Amino acid sequence: MSKTLQAIRGMNDILPEQTPTWRYLENTLAELLDGYGYKEIRLPILEFTELFARGIGEGTDVVDKEMYTFLDRNEESLTLRPEGTAGCVRAMLEHGLTGGGQVQKLWYAGPMFRYEKPQKGRYRQFHQMGVEVFNLPGPDIDAELIVLTWRLWKQLGLADAVTLQLNSLGSSEARARYRDALVAYLQERYDLLDEDSQRRLTTNPLRILDSKNGGTQALLVDAPTLHDYLDEESVAHFEGLKARLDAVGIRYEINQKLVRGLDYYSRTVFEWVTDKLGSQGTVCAGGRYDGLVTQFGGKPTPGVGYAMGVERLVLLLETLGLVPEALNSPADVYICAFGEAAELAALGLSEQLRDALPNLRLVVNAGAGSFKSQFKKADKSGARYALILGDDELAKRVVGCKPLRDDSEQQSIAWDALAEHLAACLKQA
Ligand code: ATP
Ligand code: MG
Repeated sequence: MSKTLQAIRGMNDILPEQTPTWRYLENTLAELLDGYGYKEIRLPILEFTELFARGIGEGTDVVDKEMYTFLDRNEESLTLRPEGTAGCVRAMLEHGLTGGGQVQKLWYAGPMFRYEKPQKGRYRQFHQMGVEVFNLPGPDIDAELIVLTWRLWKQLGLADAVTLQLNSLGSSEARARYRDALVAYLQERYDLLDEDSQRRLTTNPLRILDSKNGGTQALLVDAPTLHDYLDEESVAHFEGLKARLDAVGIRYEINQKLVRGLDYYSRTVFEWVTDKLGSQGTVCAGGRYDGLVTQFGGKPTPGVGYAMGVERLVLLLETLGLVPEALNSPADVYICAFGEAAELAALGLSEQLRDALPNLRLVVNAGAGSFKSQFKKADKSGARYALILGDDELAKRVVGCKPLRDDSEQQSIAWDALAEHLAACLKQA
């Protein structure tokens, strides 16, 4: 017997019972972004491998260990995108959308791919919603991005479940000076570092700061701190950001060890973290990447953005019981019809109802069936009303309208009056 086919480990089906929560989250954020004047961009899922090697940087976990890379039939090396920023910058340059200082405020959503160890909140295909802004260098826009996410948490009921961690990495020169000091300090203690950190000492030393290893963390207590190396302009930028967050009342925690994994960040970096999901607690992460566009051969172009993990946010909404009840009832009205003549009439009637009430969620019984079986399906659909159409109703040009969620009596409604009747009933609750 052949083996049962299965999905690839870490690549999940999102089943019909889960999609309402996904859409709720996605639509809430999309509408919010609309309201702040951000525009959607849709980008390919496959890109040339070189894009990520250059954009994310060798020496990062993503590029060294996590990419899905293969040769296509033309022997070109392609990679399933592990994140959205590199592709977005590529598109800006390719279409000349950031030239001459043009401001772009963009968002995207979709699947990303990383070869990681699958576990709760960490998958090989996962989804992000991300935002990128180009050509605005000041702290005002960094603040706006954070304010926007904060408003999302409030709308979703998550405001008390997440906290904001904030840091500034300074200019790339300041960061380079700090990196040298950190490397010198750790080099003297090389033998005490965990293996990953020993490797990172040459490839990506700042990443050692967020090592999970206890011994390494102990060594870092007396290590030089980033903020002693910040340049004056970055200090002022960071103060500007903090003042704005204070002004709207967003609390934050300064975390000098927050460096983010990617080479291209400068100045602001931040993460929204929850303690409700175990170790996969970062639900949104981002920062400023003023150096990225030049890394791709473009003119210096300030950039700032973030990405949120949709799976983790869905998990959080489910864990905290914050998925609105109404999402799970797909129908308002279910039409039952008995006999072929009644079925034909029911179809015509249902289309008239859809014309009259465009938002009506109406399910027409399919597959005929006895009175009992159709009623059972009507009940299971979650509909609030069943409409009943048999030979008697047909002769009188009426339908039986039976409330399914309370004990009130079935009523007989003339076809002409049905749309108005339903509109009134549905509005009531
Ligand atoms: P982590 O430290 O958790 O690996 P990261 O720094 O690699 O995160 P980013 O590249 O900043 O993550 O991605 C932004 C967000 O996307 C993360 O904060 C998280 O919510 C989500 N995310 C990243 N990787 C995964 C994954 N493998 N599965 C599910 N969500 C993910
Ligand atoms: Mg990661």
